[in-house]
Amino acid sequence: MARGLAQEQNQAFKRPARAPTRLRIGIHTSIAGGVENAAERAHRLGCNTFQIFSSSPRQWKPHRLTAEQCQAMRTFREQYDLKPLVIHSNYLINLAGANPAFVRQSIIAFRGELERTLALGAEYLVLHPGSYRGGTRETGMRRVVEGIEQAADGLLRDGRLILLLENTAGAEFSLGGRFEQLAELLQQLQGAVPAAACIDTCHVHVSGYDLVTAEGAEVTLGLLDTTLGLKNIPVWHCNDAKAAPGSHLDRHQHIGKGTIGTAAFGRLLNDPRLQHAAFIAETPIDKPGDDRRNVDALKRLVRPITLQ
Ligand SMILES: [Zn+2]
Ligand SMILES: [Zn+2]
Repeated sequence: MARGLAQEQNQAFKRPARAPTRLRIGIHTSIAGGVENAAERAHRLGCNTFQIFSSSPRQWKPHRLTAEQCQAMRTFREQYDLKPLVIHSNYLINLAGANPAFVRQSIIAFRGELERTLALGAEYLVLHPGSYRGGTRETGMRRVVEGIEQAADGLLRDGRLILLLENTAGAEFSLGGRFEQLAELLQQLQGAVPAAACIDTCHVHVSGYDLVTAEGAEVTLGLLDTTLGLKNIPVWHCNDAKAAPGSHLDRHQHIGKGTIGTAAFGRLLNDPRLQHAAFIAETPIDKPGDDRRNVDALKRLVRPITLQ
């Protein structure tokens, strides 16, 4: 997330938010001033769900949350009906890599992510499967599974927290660009760690699946259903894309302003098979109020339920 995010998001506080929809819609929210402040921000942006980092996303420094912060987060979420709360893991973590020292550091950092997610009482923790550069895809896959299991050892017995593996843009060496790969990772985690998938629309599109045409999107959702199961996708990252379909370039764009387009988001949000999911934007903030405009853009697409 860009510097100045908190400042931009504070700008949006000046006018009241659009009323919540029947769906859970939110945005990645700044934690400037403390994680608990993000709940207030998300509410003022008109969200009824949100995502945060639980510490600085590009630093290894271990970070502990205070009991007061965690309690404040619970109180605000209750007060504003903000659920689920999704935590996004630090970008530095790579459990799939070929460098053992780096993997060890990643396991320690990921355990910290799990501990903070539990302390906050958040429902989901999102992790990118990682890059196997310097090794093979098979060893990379094995390392991710082992790394997650080691990091989670003894922590996730009560099943309250669900780990979400996110699909990626499918760049060279990165795991998770294909739905089958995510499914394979989830299958290997079965019995050890409660896990499901987080699907990012920008990543789907640039890794070569069609979301743009109605027929293509139907095929893509069908593929998601047969590999992962649409029910096993509790969180969608709603991002339009700056880059071309199949380009493997991960550049997020404002909803409706990119190569995916408004119609595709309208179809997803109103698909009867996806009504259980939370839809969370991770769109850029190029000018003040962009966060509010993207949340509003998603909300405007939600059609009221019509009884047959
Ligand atoms: Zn994402
Ligand atoms: Zn992305």
